[in-house]
Amino acid sequence: MKILVINCGSSSIKYQFYSLGESRILAKGIVEKIGMKGSFLKHEKESGQKVLFEGEILDHKIGIEYILGVLSSVKHGCISSLDEINAVGHRVVHGGEEFSESVLITDEVVQTLEKFIELAPLHNPPNLKGIYAIKALIPEIPQVAVFDTAFHHTMPQHAFMYAIPYALYKKYGIRRYGFHGTSHRYVSNRACEILGVDPTTVKVITCHLGNGASACAIKYGESVDTSMGFTPLEGLIMGTRSGDIDMGAVSYIMDKEKIGTKSASVLFNKHSGLLGITGISSDSREIRAAADKGDERCLLAIRMFDYRIKKYIGAYAAGMGGVDVLVFTGGIGENSVSTRAGVCEDLEFLGVEIDSQINEGVRGEERIISKEGSKVKVMVVPTNEELMIAIDTQNIVYGKK
Ligand code: AMP
Repeated sequence: MKILVINCGSSSIKYQFYSLGESRILAKGIVEKIGMKGSFLKHEKESGQKVLFEGEILDHKIGIEYILGVLSSVKHGCISSLDEINAVGHRVVHGGEEFSESVLITDEVVQTLEKFIELAPLHNPPNLKGIYAIKALIPEIPQVAVFDTAFHHTMPQHAFMYAIPYALYKKYGIRRYGFHGTSHRYVSNRACEILGVDPTTVKVITCHLGNGASACAIKYGESVDTSMGFTPLEGLIMGTRSGDIDMGAVSYIMDKEKIGTKSASVLFNKHSGLLGITGISSDSREIRAAADKGDERCLLAIRMFDYRIKKYIGAYAAGMGGVDVLVFTGGIGENSVSTRAGVCEDLEFLGVEIDSQINEGVRGEERIISKEGSKVKVMVVPTNEELMIAIDTQNIVYGKK
């Protein structure tokens, strides 16, 4: 079964082409700078050989034409005809209250997704462009949408509601939706698989720590709470997003700085978080390097980042009545020894005891990093949202294998 996984951003398209039965990635790559000067496609073959195509990639449709062209090209491709693609799976950020799981894309689904543009104005439009392009270029091939929000559909109402007038929830759908769901689902299931436990018997907390970051409480296989909310702004401190902040501070800043909602959104989404605190960088590696040289604000940013995660872990353990497994993933969670150590410090009372020697050696690989007798199993599980999308796509189009 050959499945093309597509993740369209505002000016980029990432793709992976799977042969699922053989567990192979036949090719992968990225189109970047769509609609800008210097746009290109970087394609990587199964052998690891990379090829660069520069060109005028004016929009997402042309970007997808490039991808389909290279996949089926004689010189660099891995299929002799586009008919060999059995299905296309798309990452779609917002599925609103409508979609509790991945779906086959029909005209009706597209119409519903178009309605959700209001909820995710930055993310859903490029996701839709990818869907339109595939429909125009290879109309016979079935497409599936896999939502970032869907996994969190199981959150109970007391976890997803904001304490604002109930009418606003009804009128505008103002509630917490949560994001990164495909990642939380993948790593929690994979962690249980590695431990040899049934997901429906354990309480898991997953920390997806990348440029965007969120934590998730997964009780007996279902998401019961997560730190991102109506938008991905809520919760943990991120590369450039503030995470939790008092609304009173937001309106105060808007008054004092004489800025409107658009500028405020840019301030809290793009100029805050690690970048805002340090004034240097949103990249955790650069911040760590500066902190090691004595930069006080970088040191502060690291402490704030770790502390916020720790608070969420405590809250979720309380919310679930305990925790059995704690999983780190995302660029920082998978690679940063010091973040994992900083977050787990002083959590012994919860039963979290990491083995610092093991932790020290783990970067980007599946490992248990807790001590032998630790009540809570602490793990590193690299995320793989693309694989999850490919599997969902196969299951929906061809039935569960
Ligand atoms: P992501 O959004 O998941 O790609 O993660 C990006 C974040 O991961 C950035 O803050 C990077 O600094 C961080 N990161 C990536 N690789 C490493 C590494 N080897 N050590 C520490 N942090 C890393």
